[in-house]
Amino acid sequence: MIKEIKNNILYFDGCNTVELAEKYGTPLYVMSETAIVEKCKEIRDTFLNKYERTRAAYAAKAFLTLSMCRIIEREGLCLDVVSGGELYTAIKANFPAEKIEFNGNNKSIGELELAIDYNIGRIIVDGLDELDIIEGICKKKGKKTNILYRITPGVKSDSHDYIVTGKKDSKFGIPLDDEVIFPAIEKAINSPHINFMGFHFHVGSQLLNNESHLKALGTALKLIKDIIDKYNYVTPELNIGGGFGIKYTDDDDKKSYAYFLDPMMERIEEFSKEMNITRPEIVIEPGRSIVGESGITLYTIGTIKDIKGIRKYVSVDGGMTDNIRPALYQAKYEGIVANKADMAKTDLVTISGKCCESGDILIKDAHIAIAERGDIFAVFSTGAYGYSMASNYNKNPVPATVLVKDGKSEIIVKRQTYDHMIANEVIPESLK
Ligand SMILES: *Cc1c(COP(=O)(O)O)cnc(C)c1O
Repeated sequence: MIKEIKNNILYFDGCNTVELAEKYGTPLYVMSETAIVEKCKEIRDTFLNKYERTRAAYAAKAFLTLSMCRIIEREGLCLDVVSGGELYTAIKANFPAEKIEFNGNNKSIGELELAIDYNIGRIIVDGLDELDIIEGICKKKGKKTNILYRITPGVKSDSHDYIVTGKKDSKFGIPLDDEVIFPAIEKAINSPHINFMGFHFHVGSQLLNNESHLKALGTALKLIKDIIDKYNYVTPELNIGGGFGIKYTDDDDKKSYAYFLDPMMERIEEFSKEMNITRPEIVIEPGRSIVGESGITLYTIGTIKDIKGIRKYVSVDGGMTDNIRPALYQAKYEGIVANKADMAKTDLVTISGKCCESGDILIKDAHIAIAERGDIFAVFSTGAYGYSMASNYNKNPVPATVLVKDGKSEIIVKRQTYDHMIANEVIPESLK
């Protein structure tokens, strides 16, 4: 068990969370290596080893550090990056270039140059002029790059609007209008600087059913057939994205990877038989599902404000700066008073952050043990899109991250200091 309660205290991957808070300070991101490794193993057992010619590229944006690159490489996954900064992190961790894929709806020329210089495995082209830019760079450098086209499959998935990406009105992907997509494909097939590998779709995030994946797959398969019919060109690869949901609260009915992937693989196998082609290599891009439940955040409780008959605010020493998701899209979390883990949850409170925004609420209506100043509060399932979306609002430093495993803990990200935060600020001559 990753989460355990012993002697009234929450343990995470064998570590006493109250001791972690004392040793490293709060707020503190705690990532369980055991949990991350178990997720990677599930992907290997139920996808990579079950089906030949498959890859899983961890979507780095969920949580990326140098150490995370090492774990992902060791566990046999590829890496999906979406910016020059993520790519740079991967390069600095010596992540194998051929195992890196590059997504993003507005990659800069500098970012594309970095990717091509480093000979990364795939660039997923997300706009019509991006191909021209890549061609130009490759021509100049005498290189050839593997690309896929990200398509907008035109499906609306069942998630918060901000994390739905597959509907037609989206900034992501190339729309499937004949006069748009076919010339783009023709150009990619005919370019001497491009290896056209096929198509990519990603329908959204935190999905708890497979409907939109299956719908999008139908659209992609039809397009693959059209390309065979029209150009006699068999695309050797298909990337079906990520988006597999996790359990944030008891209301989330999380599904296995197999629930999403088995029916998709069955459809793809059938299609390939019908078309009499070798099944394309299939790539997935899980992010949240690998790290989300593998992380918790520890806070120290400070001011408690009981507005009789209205609401009791229990404030912690972090908030929207280390976890923007509740404020950004009403994401729900659960938590526990880590040093009162066995005690009855008799209080109904709102866990609020310390930032100057009324929307800086981590959990509305949490049932917790009666809390006091100085208690440690743990929020669960914060491993994805917490650290990676952290900000310095109100000049709060980004918390440290510790990696825990079987009762041992190591720092993988040091706490930002006040000096770090102002390191890039200068006073110009005119103000001296
Ligand atoms: C964000 C993203 C993912 C990962 O989504 P998760 O919900 O974290 O699994 C995969 N592919 C692309 C293109 C993305 O933008």
